[in-house]
Amino acid sequence: MARYTGAVCRLCRREGQKLFLKGDRCYTDKCAIGRRSYAPGQHGNARTKKLSEYGVQLREKQKARRYYGISESQFTHYFELAEKRKGQTGENLLAILESRLDNVIYRLGFAMSRAEARQLVRHGHFTVNGKKVNIPSYQVKTGEVIELKESSRSLDKIKGSLEANASRVIPKWLDFDQANKVAKVVAVPAREDIDLPIEEHLIVEFYSK
Ligand code: SF4
Repeated sequence: MARYTGAVCRLCRREGQKLFLKGDRCYTDKCAIGRRSYAPGQHGNARTKKLSEYGVQLREKQKARRYYGISESQFTHYFELAEKRKGQTGENLLAILESRLDNVIYRLGFAMSRAEARQLVRHGHFTVNGKKVNIPSYQVKTGEVIELKESSRSLDKIKGSLEANASRVIPKWLDFDQANKVAKVVAVPAREDIDLPIEEHLIVEFYSK
């Protein structure tokens, strides 16, 4: 299935919580979750049905997928990779998702949302170990250095995001030199460093059926 390109606020309403997909707007009272905190669609307001066990697992998988803005097939691929790695599959899966270059750019505060970060990466504004990388799904590895290109430093969009996100807590696995717009990956993302309310064991159960 292709990546979702519809109205993203519907996705938050479907999951019943803020997924922070729209950048600035998510932090204002224009957020749809505050104004219409029921599921989208004609009967969204009327739906109070209790979810089955399968339904709960499905929603958790969808929520994780939507946080990171990736397609169904790519998510399944990540799950298969996570299963092959040593350690807990759920934690491995989150580490893989966190290690995407677009997520790293978002975490560092260069963008207001992961979607915006994806666009910045696609437009070639960043280098990894000195080489331009314009693949949002690129998996960063320990020791790699991510840098905003010199020619992109004057872009208002990036400067504005860095300013707005100045107080954002940078995860411990990234060492960010904000003055020089360069970061080093110092570890594999650990579960405690991933601040998303995802119950990864439900995702593992979903795929174990
Ligand atoms: Fe979700 Fe942001 Fe839309 Fe609110 S404004 S519903 S957090 S995408």
